[in-house]
Amino acid sequence: MASKKDIDLAVYYLKLALPEMSKRAIPTTPENYAVWYEYTVGQNTGLVYAINDLISSDATFSDDINQNLYDQFIAQQQHAAVHHLRDGVRQIIHNLLSQLTNEGSGLHDYAQSLENFASEMRNSTEIGDIKALIASLLEETRKREESTLGLQATLDNMAEEVHRLRAEVERLNEEASTDALTRVSNRRAFDINLDKAISQAKMQQLPLTLIILDIDYFKRFNDKFGHIVGDNVLRFVASALKKNVKGNDTVARFGGEEFAIVLPDTPRAGAAVVAEQIRERIATQKLSDSAENIKLGNITVSLGVAEYREHESAEELIRRADQCLYQAKHEGRNRVVTDQNQEAETEKEEILL
Ligand code: GH3
Ligand code: MG
Ligand code: MG
Repeated sequence: MASKKDIDLAVYYLKLALPEMSKRAIPTTPENYAVWYEYTVGQNTGLVYAINDLISSDATFSDDINQNLYDQFIAQQQHAAVHHLRDGVRQIIHNLLSQLTNEGSGLHDYAQSLENFASEMRNSTEIGDIKALIASLLEETRKREESTLGLQATLDNMAEEVHRLRAEVERLNEEASTDALTRVSNRRAFDINLDKAISQAKMQQLPLTLIILDIDYFKRFNDKFGHIVGDNVLRFVASALKKNVKGNDTVARFGGEEFAIVLPDTPRAGAAVVAEQIRERIATQKLSDSAENIKLGNITVSLGVAEYREHESAEELIRRADQCLYQAKHEGRNRVVTDQNQEAETEKEEILL
């Protein structure tokens, strides 16, 4: 059950979304409604940026644009969840419109009664007539109150339903973005997040750095202690990474025993400090298997750090961070190599040539 506060909030969004759509002559289809509800909630940042861009460039919200927004930012989410949301939203719009239609005709009747009342008052001289008129006005007003309360109750029910659907979509979406073993972001979420971080860095002219990390000699470790212990080590590494980053950073499982961290608003030097802390934290931790009471010793990791360069693609940034990681492995593992070290190496090589 949603709390009263949550419902109030959902009512608030519900009331914000409709005027935003009507201001831009956007048809209230379930798809469009889902887009604009998400927009007013503001958590789907890709969608918010896209709509803000459209608004600031005075674009017309044509059917094509509306469809694209839906396809790109809503339908891309889990299919089952979207179907659910769509059905829910369809029902909500149906309820809202029928309620508003009733409300509209109720208001019209009320206005008519008031007008009649005013003109009859002008013509009445008998106190009895006036009393009867007042009684009928009171009756009309009471009906109006009932109808308004009815609308409020419908709105509250609808808001609760929207809230429930949203929570469901969020849960499914989180499940679809999380690596089942380590509970950090999975590769899919990483790709989406990196793209988002790159657009944001470009727009706000802020630095952005990517760290890629690979466990050293993990195959040997697995061979020696078995896969289950290996899996626990992956969980340990994931939690060590999470402990060393800030709220804005994204930790993701990038591959089998590789992890990546996206650090928005962070220059290379700052990310290198984070990478070094992670390296040290992991290398100095003595691991043991509590179930079997076996000492596992230490594991080490190698890290590549690359700062985003203007105009490069996400793939290019990943490739450069990967090259740094490769160099760290090549130089003996258990170390951090940044793209600045790499540039220095390249320059040295160029001088040698
Ligand atoms: P290097 O220092 O060069 O990275 O050596 P490495 O042994 O770590 O690298 P390699 O790529 O040869 O082996 C990676 C190993 O990671 C292979 C596999 O045993 C292990 N691995 C990958 N995914 C998982 C997983 O989900 N669970 C476990 N337990 N092990 C995994
Ligand atoms: Mg590897
Ligand atoms: Mg490895």
